[in-house]
Amino acid sequence: MNYAVSHIRDFLLTIPKSVTLVAVSKTIPVEIIREVYNAGHKIFGENKVQELIIKKPYLPDDIKWHMIGHMQSNKVKFIAPFINMIHSVDSAKLLGVINNEGLKNNRIINCLLQVHIAEEETKYGFSYDEVQQLFNKNDNASLNNARICGLMGMATFTDNKDQVRKEFKKLAEFFHLLKHSYFSTSEYFRELSMGMSGDYKIALEEGATIIRIGSVIFGKRD
Ligand SMILES: *Cc1c(COP(=O)(O)O)cnc(C)c1O
Repeated sequence: MNYAVSHIRDFLLTIPKSVTLVAVSKTIPVEIIREVYNAGHKIFGENKVQELIIKKPYLPDDIKWHMIGHMQSNKVKFIAPFINMIHSVDSAKLLGVINNEGLKNNRIINCLLQVHIAEEETKYGFSYDEVQQLFNKNDNASLNNARICGLMGMATFTDNKDQVRKEFKKLAEFFHLLKHSYFSTSEYFRELSMGMSGDYKIALEEGATIIRIGSVIFGKRD
C-alpha cells in the first residue's frame, strides 16, 4: 500500500467524523494524489493557482478542491469554474472578484475569510478589526455568488503550545461573535479552518471544523 494511503487511513481514525480533512497536496505528484483518491478521500487542498490548474486535468472531476494559499485577484478566473472552497480570502477586493467570477460561472463559491492570528508578519490575512469593518459596512449581503462560510487562520510557527492555543481560542471566539452578530440565521456560516500537521490537535480542541493536513499524510515536503 502507498504510504500516503495508509497514513490517511490511520489519520482519519484519530479525528472526529464531523471534522473535514483537507489533504494538502501541494508539491505532491498527481500519481500519489490519485492513489489517495482511489482509497476514498476526495478533498484536497493546494496553495498555488498555477499548480492546481496544472494538476486538475489529470485527476478525477469529483475531487473537491480547496484553495488554501494567498491568491491574486487576476487568478480567480482560473479556478472559479470548479473550486469548492477558497480558505484564503484576505481582502474585500478579492471577495468582490470571487463574487463576480462566481456570477459569470453561474455558481456560488464557498469562501472563508483568512484572519491574521500569528505573530509572524509574513502571513496573509485580515486583522480582526478589518473583518469587523467589512461586516459593519454591511454590503456583504449583496455578494450572492461568494458565500462566506466562516474563518481560516494559521497559528504562529512555534513549539509554544500555549501560544498556539491562545491564537486558536481567540479566532474561535471571534467566529462565534460574528456568527451571533451577523449569521445567526445562516446555515452556511459554520466553518472554522484551523490546524495543520504540527498543531491540529490543539485546533480540534479549540473547535476547528476543517483541518488542513499535508506532511502527516504525504510525508515531509522537500
Ligand atoms: C502547506 C499548508 C498546510 C499544510 O501544512 P502541513 O504542515 O504539511 O500539514 C496547511 N495550510 C496551509 C495554508 C498551507 O500552506
